[in-house]
Amino acid sequence: MEPLDCVFCAIARGDLPSYRVLDGDDVIAFLDIHPVAPGHTLVVPRRHAATLLEMPEAMAGPLFAAVARVARAVARAQGADGVNVLQANGPAAGQTVGHLHVHVVPRRHGDGLRLHIPSGPEATDRTAMAAQAERIAAALAAL
Ligand SMILES: [Zn+2]
Repeated sequence: MEPLDCVFCAIARGDLPSYRVLDGDDVIAFLDIHPVAPGHTLVVPRRHAATLLEMPEAMAGPLFAAVARVARAVARAQGADGVNVLQANGPAAGQTVGHLHVHVVPRRHGDGLRLHIPSGPEATDRTAMAAQAERIAAALAAL
């Protein structure tokens, strides 16, 4: 059920304007109104889901296929050297609009953006790593 005040639902319905680049049955894409680079695009499922964690799994295929297509198009249109695909779930992760969306950001060598995942120190506690893997595997099995 979509919240009445969801901005991306309103964009999907056409009730709010956007610079739309893809108008699919299940997925739309439009320019981010606060771009970190020219061509910064958001890929958004039409049907409301707050986060990836709440999205029906059947949506994963259409959504990620659209992400890949949009990434190719953005890279070509912007003459990019690379592309970041970024996605945040929940305020703690930096999500600011409560409707699942995937950022596609064209990159250039030396553009100065810091969008990389930092590398932590090498995990050396094998017991802790094995326990984490077991917990995640068990959670997956329980879904
Ligand atoms: Zn929504």
